[in-house]
Amino acid sequence: MLAYTYKDYGVFELVEKEKPRLTDPKDAIVKITMSSICTSDLHIKHGSVPRAVLGTTVGHEMVGIVEQTGSQVKKVKKGDRVTVNVETFCGKCFFCKKGYVNNCTDKNGGWALGCRIDGAQAEYVRVPFADEGLNKIPKSVSDSQALFVGDILSTGFWAVKISEIKQTDTVLIIGAGPTGICTLLCAMLKNPKNIIVCEKDKTRRDFIKNHYPDIITVSPEECIKTVKEKSEHGGADAVIEAGGSEKSFQLAWQSARANATVTIVALYDKAMTLPLPEMYGKNLTFKTGGVDGCDCDEILSLIEQGKIDTTPLITHQFPLKDIEKAYEIFEQKLDNVIKIAIIN
Ligand SMILES: [Zn+2]
Ligand SMILES: [Zn+2]
Repeated sequence: MLAYTYKDYGVFELVEKEKPRLTDPKDAIVKITMSSICTSDLHIKHGSVPRAVLGTTVGHEMVGIVEQTGSQVKKVKKGDRVTVNVETFCGKCFFCKKGYVNNCTDKNGGWALGCRIDGAQAEYVRVPFADEGLNKIPKSVSDSQALFVGDILSTGFWAVKISEIKQTDTVLIIGAGPTGICTLLCAMLKNPKNIIVCEKDKTRRDFIKNHYPDIITVSPEECIKTVKEKSEHGGADAVIEAGGSEKSFQLAWQSARANATVTIVALYDKAMTLPLPEMYGKNLTFKTGGVDGCDCDEILSLIEQGKIDTTPLITHQFPLKDIEKAYEIFEQKLDNVIKIAIIN
């Protein structure tokens, strides 16, 4: 089968690989019908994910059809349409039992697919702990509608959950990239008083304006002023930082009111520093990523009810054989790309 593979630092290549086989009774083999490219794939390519293993098939956002299951798999069976979770988790350890599945202590626990074990940008994938990592897609939900459930939509859902947003809140979301938009869609479900999205790219601000006209959009330069005008207590009640730059990181704490919660879901390519003397007395609560992706059934149900729709994010589609071209567009942010669906 074809598999897009991490060959060397800075080099991904479409190569021919053996179709994966079950190696554990809890495994399933999934025939991938649609996958996507995530910024984290680019982080692997550029060496900012030290745990990534050379030779691994990349990609961790996918949907597919169960092809084969190990003898201990109970929840899914051959022929089921499923989402695949970015995280591998055992469901039994201390962290899994508390819902902190990102910190699963199994050797493949956390983000393994497409990083340390073969992932999504291929024709088939082996999913360990299939009963935990696979969720059945409701009949009326299409592959395109379900594509982001296991990764960026889970991230947005989780970020909103841990930010404890209330209806009286002014919420600031920094970054209108794919994860920022998924976070916005989940924040809208909480009906806060105001949602402000801060994004430096005008095309992306326009995307938000066109699709979600009730949302206030600002550039980073206007951010603090607008947030202060729209909030009653000198800053945002909840800030979710999905921008991932030095500037967006600083804006996150600067825009927050005293005693606010600042949730950091962005993945940075270097260390970030908080100027604690300047922040003294602001008494902020920081919560940091990555996602505990264990709410996929609930998210799929919200999609089924028409409450979340991420399909406008899919701006481009390519067959797997042309994935090189898809990466070029995604990496260079050409042609107003937001997300690319890779179709098998
Ligand atoms: Zn991702
Ligand atoms: Zn675990």
